[in-house]
Amino acid sequence: MLKRFSSYFAQSMMQSKLKEALKIERLDAPVTYATDASKPYLLYMHVPFCHDFCPFCSFHKFKYDALNVKSYFRSLREELFIVKRLGFSFDRLYIGGGTPFVDPKELFQTIRVAKELFDIKEVSCESSPASIDRERVYEAKGLIDRLSIGVQTFDDTLLKRMGRYERYGSSKELQRKIESLQGILPTISLDLIFNFPAQSEAMLREDLRIAKALGSEQITTYPLMRSSLMKESIKNTFGEDEGIKEWMLYQAIRDEMSEYNLNNAWAFAKEKSALSDEYVVHYPEYVGVGSGAFSAFNDRLYVNAYSLSEYLQRIKEQRHAIIAQTPVFSPKQQVQYAFLLELFSRSLDMERFNARFDICVEKMFSIELWWLESNHAIRKEKGVIYTTLFGDYLCATMMKTFYSGMDLVRAY
Ligand code: SF4
Repeated sequence: MLKRFSSYFAQSMMQSKLKEALKIERLDAPVTYATDASKPYLLYMHVPFCHDFCPFCSFHKFKYDALNVKSYFRSLREELFIVKRLGFSFDRLYIGGGTPFVDPKELFQTIRVAKELFDIKEVSCESSPASIDRERVYEAKGLIDRLSIGVQTFDDTLLKRMGRYERYGSSKELQRKIESLQGILPTISLDLIFNFPAQSEAMLREDLRIAKALGSEQITTYPLMRSSLMKESIKNTFGEDEGIKEWMLYQAIRDEMSEYNLNNAWAFAKEKSALSDEYVVHYPEYVGVGSGAFSAFNDRLYVNAYSLSEYLQRIKEQRHAIIAQTPVFSPKQQVQYAFLLELFSRSLDMERFNARFDICVEKMFSIELWWLESNHAIRKEKGVIYTTLFGDYLCATMMKTFYSGMDLVRAY
């Protein structure tokens, strides 16, 4: 009960901080900003097309249309030239969606252009299980380093409820497909979701056992994100939220995944140094290309055009896709964000953190640290704050709230 209250309290705090920070304003004039060519920003590329929509997903997306997809990828390539001219440099590319593999030929061509324009050393790409097979993944060799497959669950009952059984195949078919993809690219990561209203601990443990048996280097376990946009759809598909089992399921995950390294509160890897799944953790500054993509740099968040026609038109006119921005985040908000990201990554070196922001973390966060320690969520050792099992869970729920809160931007 106490744990549930603490998690609820932490999430409420997060929500109110997000409301404060994400006051989006539409730009009347073209956006202007300074870029620093010596900084390695991350390049995020959004491919917002899906053949069908899943009932829990609030990502920005459009229904698949072959012609729209072709024009979109052409515009993405154009936009890469635009950001190049603006003076950005990138060493890492993350491609998310939607379904980036919705047109593999176009996707590969776009990655090639990005690699020609920038010194990109590493490419991560998301995919739904339906849009990949062994042949396509072979073609991605040398272009994509890390493929993150959005499996969500191997449970046939849940797959049927979310309409994926008919579209993507049964659990056994999914497993055969994933097995056939192993060993082609440097890293295959499986994304699972936990805490569906109809999901039991036994179902979740079985998902994890299957994921491990398939030999994936990485397994990420996201808590179900009940964003304001998707609450109703989740309820209609899976039933009422029982609200009490998230912490219990998180403990089951940690128990089941004990032989893996924990990269952050929800990502597990066989190798400690494996490529990370959370680009926002490692790259506080990133530039998003594509419709609805966010960028974060110069201490604020920028938003690209959501409407497909507006996005295509802006790129055709060689204009930047950014249409809105938040106010500049205050120094305090920036430190708070960094504090959350470090704890989400499971440790915070106080001396390094103090030097980075020219603050005293123990003074600035005295109440938060007291509260976290009293709840056995952190422990301090030789100048480093480490999260405990419960601390990891709290950070996972706060990051969940952070991502769900991005719907404030999508709803704008
Ligand atoms: S979960 Fe993936 S495939 Fe399903 S709607 Fe969202 S982006 Fe599309």
